[in-house]
Amino acid sequence: PALEDLQRYQQQAMRYSVGRAALDAHAQEPATTLDGVHVRVAGNIELHDETGFVLDFGAEGIGLYRTEFLYMNRDALPDEEEQYRHYREVVERCGPLGATLRTLDIGGDKLVSHVKLPKEANPAMGLRALRLCLRESSLFRPQLRALLRASVHGELRIMVPFVSGLAEVRAVKRLLAECHAELLAEGVALPRLPALGIMVELPSAAAIADILAREVDFFAIGTNDLIQYALAIDRANEHVGYLYHPLHPALLRMLQFILRSGAEAGIRVSMCGEMAGDPFYTAILLGLGLREFSMNAVSVPVVKQVIRSLDVSACEALLAEAMMLPDASDIEHLVSERLGPMLGTRISREVFDPMSHRP
Ligand code: PEP
Ligand code: MG
Repeated sequence: PALEDLQRYQQQAMRYSVGRAALDAHAQEPATTLDGVHVRVAGNIELHDETGFVLDFGAEGIGLYRTEFLYMNRDALPDEEEQYRHYREVVERCGPLGATLRTLDIGGDKLVSHVKLPKEANPAMGLRALRLCLRESSLFRPQLRALLRASVHGELRIMVPFVSGLAEVRAVKRLLAECHAELLAEGVALPRLPALGIMVELPSAAAIADILAREVDFFAIGTNDLIQYALAIDRANEHVGYLYHPLHPALLRMLQFILRSGAEAGIRVSMCGEMAGDPFYTAILLGLGLREFSMNAVSVPVVKQVIRSLDVSACEALLAEAMMLPDASDIEHLVSERLGPMLGTRISREVFDPMSHRP
């Protein structure tokens, strides 16, 4: 690069570092809005040893531990004992903040070489995740047993991915009860069953969120898959990436219904897809009533600061306006226009500039 380009980018990088350091200095402070609403911001991890890292970035516990990564890039499946050690370490490190551990979510874009999957024309809609686990109980049972044993050591919540309907939830409950009874018979002290929740990431689950909410202890909204399946865009396909719009009215309606259903049933609803960690969407999500976010470590301090800079009643007004608009691009425009004034100067433009965030 030319010398002047180099200097310009070096200055930009320096301003970013300064803005970032200022944010990180407040990472451990709670995320409470200007009008006093506390919002929980948790972290997403893929491996057990990332726990300390996300907590250092200010995450209030683990909202999503993608346990499938323990099964990937190795020669044999992890046995119950190895899983137990990993899960126990995560829960113990989180203490009262708690950790949500998601059961095996393989298939589609996540492959485990020693789990033989049938050749399918459309693996994204095939035998994967919970479907595979319910079919291969030799795969699922050791994980459920390891999770139950680890739950003795702290606030462990079990979450299942890729739920499409009620029968699957009931099948998981039956299996969990069986594993629980088995462990008790073996003399393992398990005073209680941990909370059981589901990922709401398929349109069918979103559409019956009111029914599912009566059956489980919590929801976690997986926007990565929910957007993929609701808008029919492969999340790894660059040719249809232009259709990827988290603020599509269809999605906002789904999110509203999921959050209302959760509130009516009195269960916790969090969001752990990428949308939760993108500060551009924070105001809309607060307006929808979301009070639990989970995201990658580096996003935690940014989203926390955005939350501290917002007023929930203003977010609700923004959402009401957004819900009247017919198209995703109209809603994106509205948000990019309003967000700057709503945030004022409370967040460094070097770290997050809502104006330049979207085209
Ligand atoms: C999601 O689908 O939004 C999600 C959090 O899970 P994953 O990205 O692992 O599919
Ligand atoms: Mg998913």
